[in-house]
Amino acid sequence: MSQHYSIAIDGPSGAGKSTIAKAIARDMHYLYLDTGAMYRAFGLFAIKNGVDFSGEWSNKRNEKSLIALLNDFDLDVRYVDGVQRVFVGGEDYTDFIRTNEVSKAASAVAVVSAVRLKMVELQRKIAAGANVVMDGRDIGTYVLPNAAVKVFVTASPLARAKRRYKELLEKGDDSHTFEQVYSDMIERDKNDSSRAFAPLSRADDAALLDTTDIGLEESIAAVQNIVLTKLGLK
Ligand code: C5P
Repeated sequence: MSQHYSIAIDGPSGAGKSTIAKAIARDMHYLYLDTGAMYRAFGLFAIKNGVDFSGEWSNKRNEKSLIALLNDFDLDVRYVDGVQRVFVGGEDYTDFIRTNEVSKAASAVAVVSAVRLKMVELQRKIAAGANVVMDGRDIGTYVLPNAAVKVFVTASPLARAKRRYKELLEKGDDSHTFEQVYSDMIERDKNDSSRAFAPLSRADDAALLDTTDIGLEESIAAVQNIVLTKLGLK
C-alpha cells in the first residue's frame, strides 16, 4: 500500500480554515475534506427528524435520540467536479447546511461521542486512501495525530464574527443581526472547546497562524510556507 500524506488544519469557525485548506489542496493536488460539513449534515438530518436544538446548547436531553438516529444516518461524501458534496440517504444536503440553525445543531451533535466516532471512522478511511488536506476542530489532535503537517488557524472572535456575518449577507441571508451572529459564535466556540471528547484545541505540534490582521492571500501564503517547509520541499 502506498503511503499517503495528510495535512491537518484546525481552528474555530471564521478563522479562514476552509479557504486556506482548499487553496493548499489545489496547490498540492491533494483531496480536500471539510469535516465540519459532515457534522452539519448530521445536524440537519436530526432537525429533519424532529430533534429540537433551540434553547440551551447542552444537548444532553437529545443524546439518546441522536444516538438512535445515528443508525439511520447514511452519510456519503462525494466529489462532483472536484467539489465536495455531502449526501444523506442519497439526498444532496450540501446547499442546506450553511444556515445559522444548522451551525448550532452541528455543534450540539458534535458533543456526542458516538456521533464523533462515526465521523472519525469515515474521515480516517478517506485519509487512508488519498493525500488529503482536512479541516476541522480535532484533526491534528485526534483524527490524524500523525499528520505530516498541522496548522491551527485562529483569529479574534470579533474578526471571525464579522467574516461570518458578511458571508451570510452575501448568501442573501439577512435574518440575523451582527450581534446574534457574534453571540452565537462565542457560544459555539465555548461548546466546541469545552466538550469532553476531542474538543477544539491546538495540537502541541501544530503551527499557529493568527489571521485577525491579515487578509486571505497572506494567510494562504503563510500556510503554504509552513506546508512546504514541513514537507521538506523548500
Ligand atoms: O467547521 P464548521 O463550522 O462547518 O463546523 C460545524 C461544527 O461541527 C463545529 O462548530 C463543530 O462543533 C463541529 N465540528 C467538530 N469537529 C470537526 C469539524 C466540525 O466538532 N472536525
